[in-house]
Amino acid sequence: MSVEQAPVHRADFDQVMVPNYAPAGFIPVRGEGSRVWDQSGRELIDFAGGIAVNALGHAHPALVKALTDQANTLWHVSNVFTNEPALRLARKLVEATFADRAFFCNSGAEANEAAFKLARRVAHDRFGPEKHEIIATLNSFHGRTLFTVSVGGQPKYSDGFGPKITGISHVPYNDLDALKAQISDKTCAVVIEPIQGESGVVPADQAYLEGARDLCDQHDALLIFDEVQTGVGRTGSLYAYQHYGVTPDILTSAKSLGGGFPIGAMLTTEALASHLAVGTHGTTYGGNALGCAVACAVLDVINTPQALAAIRAKHERFSTRLAQIGEHYGLFSQVRGLGLLIGCVLAEPWKGKAKQVLDAAEAEGLMVLQAGPDVVRFAPSLVIEDADIDEGLDRFERAVATLTQR
Ligand SMILES: *Cc1c(COP(=O)(O)O)cnc(C)c1O
Repeated sequence: MSVEQAPVHRADFDQVMVPNYAPAGFIPVRGEGSRVWDQSGRELIDFAGGIAVNALGHAHPALVKALTDQANTLWHVSNVFTNEPALRLARKLVEATFADRAFFCNSGAEANEAAFKLARRVAHDRFGPEKHEIIATLNSFHGRTLFTVSVGGQPKYSDGFGPKITGISHVPYNDLDALKAQISDKTCAVVIEPIQGESGVVPADQAYLEGARDLCDQHDALLIFDEVQTGVGRTGSLYAYQHYGVTPDILTSAKSLGGGFPIGAMLTTEALASHLAVGTHGTTYGGNALGCAVACAVLDVINTPQALAAIRAKHERFSTRLAQIGEHYGLFSQVRGLGLLIGCVLAEPWKGKAKQVLDAAEAEGLMVLQAGPDVVRFAPSLVIEDADIDEGLDRFERAVATLTQR
């Protein structure tokens, strides 16, 4: 039986929500595949993917089935008990990666929080309290808890909340010499996004990740890859570390892992995991049966050679056309990224105007993202149909034509 709901409107947001977001002027109410409909029935193509989250698009039958089957079976028992979906998910992740052990939580920030705490704990146990420093990169993004904004290299997110977590330093991304100058025997971990997502879709250089691995080994520091945005097929490999062939000690995953259902994971080795003994860390909802059942279904669809190859092929389809659009209209100077995490770097006259491109795209019925003020970001469903890519890019081209003619 459906209960009549009171109507709500975008204007309600400005009256009843904490004003920390500035959502678009329309409210999406329904999605299917890579299409979304708003309250007025207008249809949009979704190249934003809920910020690199909706790995299988909207209402994918395998995810709807996994979620509803589980919803009819068992939702939550807490970590006082384990559950079957969590154990299945851990098995899948351990079999597919370098890791021997998984810790589940509910978001990217929580996965990173666990990773940073583990790194400090390991160093504390093995070497003592002096070895607690974490090196991160400028412009990095690791989440919004106090620890993760302190590690993230963006003062706009960490300033103005009182004292930060100490023992953290920031070095320029892709600058191996800077990392070499900063790392010391007090360093417990170096944390890197294999592609900096939020701050412009900047892929790491191969030599940078290899060099970071070597420096960590030389200084008994752990290498943490934040794969919250790059993980679960986003780059055309299951995890970006596999594309680069550089293996971290700790890896964090979230976003695409749940395909839209909140879940995060920290993956690590047997030896490191042993430092988080009973009682050292935890979360009530982490590894709940609903989230883990959905994540299992996401992995079953994405983690096949065919599905990963298809993501790489879709990258070519996107980037070829985007490069053409960029060149023809003089809007962007570079198209970069891997798989279906693509950034278009705005050309000099358009610098700082990514939001205008987003607005122009929305007017044509297309959802895209920005990654900082200078980059337009595409993070669509990993199983988006080629026809939707083509139609979405037609809409994008119309938006760009209108914008550049003004
Ligand atoms: C989104 C993101 C996070 C934070 O994830 P939340 O689920 O929002 O807490 C952390 N690291 C990276 C690289 C991200 O892209």
